[in-house]
Amino acid sequence: MEGVEVHSIFKRIGATHLHHANSVTSSCTFLERQGLLSRRYVEEHRLKQSAQPSDELDKKYGLWQSIFLPHIDIHQHTGQIRGANRFGPVLFLLDLDVLLGLPPSTQTSVTKRSPVYWYDTEPENERWFQSAGELAKSIAAGETDKMIAVWTPSGKLEFPHRRARIVLDDPQRQLSSGEDAYARAEARLKAAAAAGGAEVSIERRKCQAGCLCSQKYAAWSAPVLDFYFS
Ligand SMILES: [Zn+2]
Repeated sequence: MEGVEVHSIFKRIGATHLHHANSVTSSCTFLERQGLLSRRYVEEHRLKQSAQPSDELDKKYGLWQSIFLPHIDIHQHTGQIRGANRFGPVLFLLDLDVLLGLPPSTQTSVTKRSPVYWYDTEPENERWFQSAGELAKSIAAGETDKMIAVWTPSGKLEFPHRRARIVLDDPQRQLSSGEDAYARAEARLKAAAAAGGAEVSIERRKCQAGCLCSQKYAAWSAPVLDFYFS
């Protein structure tokens, strides 16, 4: 599908932004390179990224080159059941209009279900919407499984005007170094943006009433907290 077609369908259901969650380490690499990057891009350029729960599936199902951009903020949407986003505490917010300015030859697709539920013999047309018409008939606001993915020729999706907007979780804990996790993460992200010549705005996440993230963060082990925040 063309980015322009996907844009108009998601705009019609009220989507305003696209989202990409990750660890502080991987997010710093994005800021240094002034754009979101596919896992393969980071690997091939020997840059830093942290392992993700979906890495094996991504390689198996051809998602290693893609950049996922859900129209939902998963933390906000499912926080009362699951708490924080499992991909990490750093959430990049992109204007939906980024789909209007994708690089030439970019492929844009939308999943029918989360790749977590895909199985090996499943046909492609069960995994991905096959046309803009099919997508338009099926999509409704708030469906977290229907995720936009883009494959740009370079594996990079540049931040428009070199500006990135981030919402950062505050676990209200200290890292094993003794530093406050939020302060450390914020400082690293700002330093990475400065090194890469990107402008970044970082907002502390304000959760909805009943969000379980603070309980879940309180239960994380020190190594896991260090892994995502430092
Ligand atoms: Zn929360």
